[in-house]
Amino acid sequence: MKTLNGKTALVTGSTSGIGLGIALSLAKAGANLILNGFGDASAVIAQVEHYGGRVGHHGADVSDPAQIADMLAYAEREFGGVDILVNNAGIQHVAAVEAFPAERWDAIIAINLSAVFHSTRLSLPGMKAKGWGRIINIASVHGQVGSVGKAAYVAAKHGVIGLTKVVGLETATSNVTCNAICPGWVLTPLVQKQIDERIASGIDPQQAQHDLLAEKQPSLAFVTPSQLGELVLFLCSDAGSQVRGAAWNIDGGWLAQ
Ligand code: NAD
Repeated sequence: MKTLNGKTALVTGSTSGIGLGIALSLAKAGANLILNGFGDASAVIAQVEHYGGRVGHHGADVSDPAQIADMLAYAEREFGGVDILVNNAGIQHVAAVEAFPAERWDAIIAINLSAVFHSTRLSLPGMKAKGWGRIINIASVHGQVGSVGKAAYVAAKHGVIGLTKVVGLETATSNVTCNAICPGWVLTPLVQKQIDERIASGIDPQQAQHDLLAEKQPSLAFVTPSQLGELVLFLCSDAGSQVRGAAWNIDGGWLAQ
């Protein structure tokens, strides 16, 4: 059912992985889509256009607040604003704290945390004026627990969940909601890189994938981008309208341990 007909969704980092999966679910439900992210967007635009809504792409580097402002101005000009904001763009770097490059720390905080603040502050006035809105932040299990080697990522994702709570409270009496989704392992380029590092150390590819899952994710199965897309659709529905300031796990049991 096209439950989101007439709504416009902006999904940051939607040229790949989880963001693309979420964009496809939103488009299938009838939303117009503004895609964002690096790389050649033409194939991705065609994939999303298949569902019949309007599709745009803005190549903002979300580590730069001025480019985020330009993307929101584009959304206002071309689509009449953003009804559904999915803050998804994110990067990872794995190293022990004492070896962690300061430049990677700054980039992860800028992209995974500060960008969520900037796009939220710029989208909220329009949502409040229209009397409806959904802000969905793709955090992580790492917003609730730590893992070695992921100082910046874990700090940023904990920050995203804190920010989500505050925005959830500040919008509590309105028809705007703000929530975080906390995925466990999803097989995307971001995670494949971590599997490849294991393969490079001499482990068989199948075994490397199994070991990665077995260390953290009791289901021993990856969460899929389309499962995350379905959860986003639920948060956009009337049934989801009293979910506010939540951090929703979808993690094969990771955080139940
Ligand atoms: P991915 O690498 O497949 O995709 C990341 C997307 O973000 C791409 O479209 C890329 O172009 C875009 N991007 C990166 N830097 C950007 C920037 N500066 N400006 C604009 N766009 C930028 O990664 P993914 O695994 O799909 O991750 C998406 C989100 O999900 C991230 O926030 C990540 O932390 C989170 N997450 C992923 C997993 C997982 O297992 N893959 C688990 C939990 C949370």
